[in-house]
Parts: sequence; structure tokens; C-alpha cells
Amino acid sequence: MGQTLDSQFQQLCREKQLAVTHQRLVVYRALMQMCDHPSPEQIYERVRGELPSISLGTVYKTLHVFLAAGLIREVSPHHGSLRIEPNAEHHCHFFCLQCHTITDLEPSEVDVVPLMNSVPENFQVDRVSLEVRGVCGHCSGSFVSADA
Ligand SMILES: [Zn+2]
Ligand SMILES: [Zn+2]
Repeated sequence: MGQTLDSQFQQLCREKQLAVTHQRLVVYRALMQMCDHPSPEQIYERVRGELPSISLGTVYKTLHVFLAAGLIREVSPHHGSLRIEPNAEHHCHFFCLQCHTITDLEPSEVDVVPLMNSVPENFQVDRVSLEVRGVCGHCSGSFVSADA
């Protein structure tokens, strides 16, 4: 798994003409192994073990380099804080308003054609992102038991 991610990263860097550094590799490996849309803080906590001298600022900087190069994507920007999207497949999200976890949803049933047709002709679409907001199963479960 680690070997695959390493070569995947090296190939991406070649494509995007980005220098491969050990630090960048460790950050990339960490975020790809975290499946729940990690925040820079969570990535920082994870890479600290391997890179004790790294700072949170460096993690932010590295992530912005990745984002600018198109190596990774961020979850819809109106979420407030930066969250990394490791899933390159097109999909929708469920945002939990209570614990702020973001869960990937299967987009296959969503028909975006009417939505796209409502976009004014001279507007350019970057991407369509759909989200569902509410309370996740974990939070609704704890809510019920706290209420009882
Ligand atoms: Zn929740
Ligand atoms: Zn996602």
C-alpha cells in the first residue's frame, strides 16, 4: 500500500512538475490514508510522528501547493475551514452539523442535468457539488440516548 502511494505521488509530481521531497511525500501519504476528509490539523497530528520537526504552518503550505497543482481537491469551500478530499471520484457529501464529519454519498441517483440547464449561458461551471446537511447516525444516536 505504502509502495503504491509513493509511486503514485512520484508520478503525480512528474505530471504536475512538482519537486518530490520527503516531507511532501509523508504529507501526501498521510492524507491519502485518512478517509474522512481530514483537516490540516488532523494531517499535522498524523505526520508529526514521522516528521517531528514539521510545523502546522508547513502542513498548510504543503497542502496549498498540492491544491494549486491539482494533486488533491478540497471539500466545498463554503464549509468554512479547509478539508481535504482524498476521493477523486465524483460524489456528493453529507455534512453532520453536530460533529462536522463529512460522509461520501453515492452520486449515481442524482440527475444534475436540470441544474446545469438552469445555469446562465455565459456562466462557466467549474464543478457541481451537492451536499446534504443534517445529523449523522452517530450523533443522532447519542442525541436520543442523552435525551432519554
Ligand atoms: Zn455527527
Ligand atoms: Zn468526499
